[in-house]
Formats: sequence, structure tokens, C-alpha cells
Amino acid sequence: MKCEDMLKALDLHLEGGAADEACAEFLRHMAGCERCRVVVDTIRNTVALYRESDTAVEIPEDCRRRLEQALRERWNKR
Ligand SMILES: [Zn+2]
Repeated sequence: MKCEDMLKALDLHLEGGAADEACAEFLRHMAGCERCRVVVDTIRNTVALYRESDTAVEIPEDCRRRLEQALRERWNKR
């Protein structure tokens, strides 16, 4: 699993629609990749913020896009 694939898996993960298999691979990759761990932490914090401030769990589309872009920039820096 490549870091790029993490974004796709992450989307499924956030939407709660990830298959067990995809989820396991996702966690396995995260265990061995510090970059993705940092990224997922950031996303978790963002999601937590939304959960606190609003009844809706869903992350707004524009926010998600910005997040995704930030992740790509971070990844591309290496
Ligand atoms: Zn990674």
C-alpha cells in the first residue's frame, strides 16, 4: 500500500464504509509510516472538532478538499 492509496482508504474510513480488509491494510500501513500517522492524527483532530461543534459528523466538502491538499503538500515535500 502506497501513501497515495491512504487518501482513498481514509475517505472510506471516515465515511464508515471501509471494508474490514481495507481497514486492516490501512492500519498496517499506518503502523509503519510516520507520515501517514501524522496525517491521520490531524484528520482525527479535525473530525473531533466537527463532532464537538456540530451535530453533523460529516466533514464539509471544501474542508475535506483543503485537508487533502495539505496532506499532498506534506507528502510531496519529502
Ligand atoms: Zn504512508
